[in-house]
Amino acid sequence: MLGALADLVLPRTCAGCAVPGAVLCSSCSALLARPRLAAPRRFPEGFPPTVAAGGYAGPVRPAVLAFKERGRAELAGPLGAALALAVVAVTRAVRDTGPVVLVPVPSSPAALRTRGRDHVRELTGQAVRELVAAGLPVTAGRLLRRRGRVRDSAGLSAVQRRANLAGTFALTGGVPAGAVLVLVDDVVSSGATLTEAAAVLGSATRPGDPPVLAAVVAATPRAAGGPTSAGDLRVVRNRPGIGPRPPADRLSGRVNRD
Ligand SMILES: [Zn+2]
Repeated sequence: MLGALADLVLPRTCAGCAVPGAVLCSSCSALLARPRLAAPRRFPEGFPPTVAAGGYAGPVRPAVLAFKERGRAELAGPLGAALALAVVAVTRAVRDTGPVVLVPVPSSPAALRTRGRDHVRELTGQAVRELVAAGLPVTAGRLLRRRGRVRDSAGLSAVQRRANLAGTFALTGGVPAGAVLVLVDDVVSSGATLTEAAAVLGSATRPGDPPVLAAVVAATPRAAGGPTSAGDLRVVRNRPGIGPRPPADRLSGRVNRD
C-alpha cells in the first residue's frame, strides 16, 4: 500500500542508474548475473573460496548502497536473486555437495542500530526463497554472532582490519555435520571479514566435511579479471600432511588459476 502510494507521488527509478521503471532495471540486473571469483588484492591466508554475482563498480555500487544504507528494502528481491546465483556458482564448485546452509555474516550491533534492520539477513532470506523455489536443498543458519567491541574499520589497512576483527565472531551453536556451509555477505573487498568468519566456522567442522565457502552480491574488482562461468570453477582441496601446516582450500578458475 505504501509502495503503491509512493509510486503515485514519486515515480520509481532504478537504484543503479536512475532510469524510471523497475527498482533495478534489466541492464543493471544483468551486471549482477555474471558470477566471478572474488580475488582480494592481497589474498588473506585462509580466505574462503568466494563467488560474487558481479563487480562492485558502476551502477552496482549505488544499488547496493541504496539497499544497505538508504533503506530501499525492496531491493532485497533483485539483490537476493543475485546472491542466490553466486551461491549456486560456488556450491557447484564442490563436487560432493550435501544440504547447503547459508550463514549470514552478522552486522555489528552499532550498524544494526544505525540502519534499524539487518540487511544481510534480508538478503539471505530472499536467496533461500529463490533457491528453494528452484528445488535446491538450502536453508539459512545463523551460526555466527558478533562478540566484543570492534573499532570502525574505515581507514584501516588490510592487516589492521584483520587484527581489528580477530575475535569478532563466535559460534552460536553446533555446525550441522556434512552440510555445505556458505557464508553470505553483501560486498567483499579486503576479504578480512569473510576470512575471520570462515576461520570460526571452519573450526567447528569435522574432517571430511566440505570446505567453508562464501557468496556475495558484489566484489571490489581488481584491475584485471572478468566474469567467469560457474562451470569453470572448482574447489581444490588441499590435503593435510604436506608442509608445516595445511594450506587453505582454494577455488580455481580462469580468473584465479592455481
Ligand atoms: Zn539501471
